[in-house]
Amino acid sequence: MINSKCKHYFNICFIPLSVIILFAISAINTTQANTIDLAQFEEGAIGHSIEYFQEKEIKLSLTEAQALFTNGVIKSGQSDSISLGIGVAPAWMKFTLVNNSMGQLNYRLAIETPWLDYIDTWLVHEEKVVRHIVGGDGYPFNQRPMPYKFYAFEQSLPPGITEVYIRVETKGPMAIPVRLSRVDKAIIRDITSAYQYGVLYGIMSALALYNLVLFVFIRQKEYGLYSLYLIGFVINSLSYTGQLHTLITPDYGPYFQDWLDISLMITYSIAGLHFARTLLQTSQYAAKLDRFVSKITIVIPTGMFIGFIFNQLFFSMILAFILNTCFVILFVAMGFFALKAKKPFAVIFLLSSVTAAICITISTLAVAGFLVPYNDYTFKAIEVGMAFEAILLAVILARQFRLAKMDKIIAEHYACTDTLTQLNNRRGFQVITQPVWQNIIRERRDVTIALLDIDFFKNINDQYGHQIGDKVLQQVAQCISNASRKGDICARWGGEEFIIFLPETSLTQATKQAERIRQVIEQLEVQIDNTLISVTTSIGLAGSENNKLNGAPLTLDSLESMINHADNALYYAKDSGKNQLHVANHQSSQQS
Ligand code: GH3
Ligand code: MG
Ligand code: MG
Repeated sequence: MINSKCKHYFNICFIPLSVIILFAISAINTTQANTIDLAQFEEGAIGHSIEYFQEKEIKLSLTEAQALFTNGVIKSGQSDSISLGIGVAPAWMKFTLVNNSMGQLNYRLAIETPWLDYIDTWLVHEEKVVRHIVGGDGYPFNQRPMPYKFYAFEQSLPPGITEVYIRVETKGPMAIPVRLSRVDKAIIRDITSAYQYGVLYGIMSALALYNLVLFVFIRQKEYGLYSLYLIGFVINSLSYTGQLHTLITPDYGPYFQDWLDISLMITYSIAGLHFARTLLQTSQYAAKLDRFVSKITIVIPTGMFIGFIFNQLFFSMILAFILNTCFVILFVAMGFFALKAKKPFAVIFLLSSVTAAICITISTLAVAGFLVPYNDYTFKAIEVGMAFEAILLAVILARQFRLAKMDKIIAEHYACTDTLTQLNNRRGFQVITQPVWQNIIRERRDVTIALLDIDFFKNINDQYGHQIGDKVLQQVAQCISNASRKGDICARWGGEEFIIFLPETSLTQATKQAERIRQVIEQLEVQIDNTLISVTTSIGLAGSENNKLNGAPLTLDSLESMINHADNALYYAKDSGKNQLHVANHQSSQQS
């Protein structure tokens, strides 16, 4: 959730504490040179074997630094990575390698933070400088000692003692994890690391692309922001682990890499914060927090841009670290408020953000050399935490997607249902019959429409009131629904008028079915207090056979005309004394 540089921002807090500890330790420790016996050393971080001090204002030459290592106040590394804070004075480091074998030994020395600006290493053998290796991201990629994501070089170490002096100058966080490995071991580590990053980036890129596709099609902001957040993190991680710069290496001056790192760092943080706001809808229940999050994503980038205009890298960097630290805290805070507001998914969100925060803290402490050992696992805890978080957030989005779909289904159900009778309304009737109708046309099957109208219904309203009228309507609807066969489609067509769509039913069959319904309604007694109310219905029928008589095949429009025919037939039924059924015949069809 935060980039590894940000780990070093935390170091600011640890500096006073570590200075006290270092003072105490250096008082106990005698400042003797730490040597590494290559016979017993294949690979590893060597922070513990390093002596170091920081320059005071004037840039020292190697000879002056050597003198200070002999006579001056120097410190011994207390962790695998030497961490000195952000924007601090250049550091000088020294360690001694002993090759007791008869031949040369091939080793690689790497400093595994790619943002250090200028790094000089001198190899001194038998009091002569045998090699001076210049590098750091202040130099264009092709001028660095080897085409590699970090400052690194390989060297055949002759038998005897080789003293190594390193000077590091940087405007960014001074975290110097020096690693020494036999060349063959270093290559295996590179391959392993490439696979590990490949898996992590693969998971995150796949999730990002999937959600980008969702965003394109669904146009819901959170999918786009989530995608931007993950893509932003992957690019940012590629950049601060130096991998991006081995592929894209424009030479835009010494601090290009630093500016790119902090810009990418805030890009994904901002996308992440807005994603969380949108997903958790914080504006609804935590308005102040929501406004603060919004403001911080505007104020800090603006400040950084001003820093960029005035070429103040340190200033902009501090702002970026503040934003990233806030990002971790705000993510957890938003999860907490969402939980309090009983928002769906708040538990998963909180779980993911707390896990990510723990992973970030582990990496931070490891690089700071505090409590947690510095190794590949603790260093990569950030990426693992982020991948875990990405998966959990994807789970939230997937569940949200499902809920939205269910909401839509419910909304559609309501839009198609008559609230009084719970039968389909006109719209529901059209939606349901449409595909069935197309099937009927294609397969030239029979179909019949029945229109029912309650007789003298106005009288019921007048006599018992509208509410009782409603009850009667409900019970008649219930009768129609119960008496209908599976596959028949019933709907309330208007006030006290109902329609039944009878697929695969000839007029003769439909007549029997409709007559049965007419009788069921006739027998219905709606009990209101001590009164029993009875109603009758008139029914008009029309079917595909009417069309066949006309010699015309069914078309998409003929459902409407069939309903009109049924309506005419209903009119006949009413006209002929009500409580009866009339089938549209050739004649009545033609009259419509
Ligand atoms: P006919 O036998 O010719 O069908 O006569 P009718 O009285 O049933 O028909 P008319 O069209 O004259 O009146 C229908 C009545 O149905 C008028 C209207 O107030 C009533 N009505 C329509 N919708 C509702 C409703 O949702 N609830 C109630 N209680 N009455 C309704
Ligand atoms: Mg009526
Ligand atoms: Mg009517």
